[in-house]
Amino acid sequence: MLKKQEIITEARKLQFADIGFTTAEPFVSQKEYLLDHMQEYGWTQKAGFSLVEGTDPQNILPGAKSIIVLLESYFAEAFPPQLERNFGRCYLDDDRVTKDGMALKVKAFRQFLRDNGIDSKVPFNLPHRMAAARAGLGTFGKNCFFYAKRVARASSLVIPIILVVDQEFSSDEPTVGIGCPDWCRSACVAACPTHALKGGGKIDPRRCISYLTYYGEGLTPRELREPMGMFVYGCDRCQNVCPRNNPWMSETKMMNSRVAAKAADFELSCLLHMDKPYFQQKIWPHMFYMSAADIWRWKMNTARAMGNSLNPAHTADLVRAFKENSDERVQSMIAWALGRIGGRKAEEALEQFHQSSTGIVRDEIEQASAAL
Ligand code: SF4
Ligand code: SF4
Repeated sequence: MLKKQEIITEARKLQFADIGFTTAEPFVSQKEYLLDHMQEYGWTQKAGFSLVEGTDPQNILPGAKSIIVLLESYFAEAFPPQLERNFGRCYLDDDRVTKDGMALKVKAFRQFLRDNGIDSKVPFNLPHRMAAARAGLGTFGKNCFFYAKRVARASSLVIPIILVVDQEFSSDEPTVGIGCPDWCRSACVAACPTHALKGGGKIDPRRCISYLTYYGEGLTPRELREPMGMFVYGCDRCQNVCPRNNPWMSETKMMNSRVAAKAADFELSCLLHMDKPYFQQKIWPHMFYMSAADIWRWKMNTARAMGNSLNPAHTADLVRAFKENSDERVQSMIAWALGRIGGRKAEEALEQFHQSSTGIVRDEIEQASAAL
């Protein structure tokens, strides 16, 4: 029978940042919290995430005995700054579809377990951060992120990978709790532009920019457009302002060549004009929370980011995209963006578009023109 230390050695050999062990007991407090906050989390059930079911490891692997938590730092290498402006860092080198990065290590680790008679499942719906804290790997921040204890300079730029296994191992000392220093006056809560953070480690996920960028329904409400700033997919603001992340974020790192190689594909002008084949080949394999049917949301987010850049260099692209697109959510956001950037060319374009527009697009054009 495989010993715990042999598993730790294998994890180190595969260069995972850290590893911890916990029991396969249900996550009772998480289940209660989810059930008490269905108004905020009900959408996850509808989206098929089954978070409530995921609180019991037996639903994932009948006969589950332990949980192994691996920790991976997703910011061990630097990312191109132009990508960090518009995308959450954790999505920039996400190989859950391409399976050519971290997935290969997880596969090798599971094979090692299998070769030694241990069955494992890698669930997407088990409470990852709570499992990592229960396995003694770190603590929470008031921004709801998980902070490592021993690696990545104790930052939140880590991903817990969960393996539910059918063999029992001794558990590590849990570290469940908020680990923020007393002197931090909740910089994350103050910095959250959409007031998603409620303090004390609580969040309304429906107000989080990450959620809004890939699951937000319809045209983004006017009051959220400026606060959502230049993020097109994901948001890192509450992690960027956190002093617990300063040591890791300020370290000089080598550029991530995999991410740098695809940076040009994610330029805002490419996203604004992309067609379905472009999306399917270059974007979806890396950022896949939206299907091809939701290209309109990518374009709407991109137009909003361009508008919030206040950069007249985007005006020509926005004018062209208005003519290319018939989706009223995209056209409406383009009108808003042109109004936000302003200038003679934007004004002339809005006047021209007004003549042939109806409904909400016409309303947005009128409001944009009035603001000018
Ligand atoms: S900003 Fe302050 S309160 Fe928020 S997670 Fe970081 S240390 Fe904690
Ligand atoms: S990720 Fe952005 S929107 Fe979400 S809680 Fe943090 S700062 Fe707020």
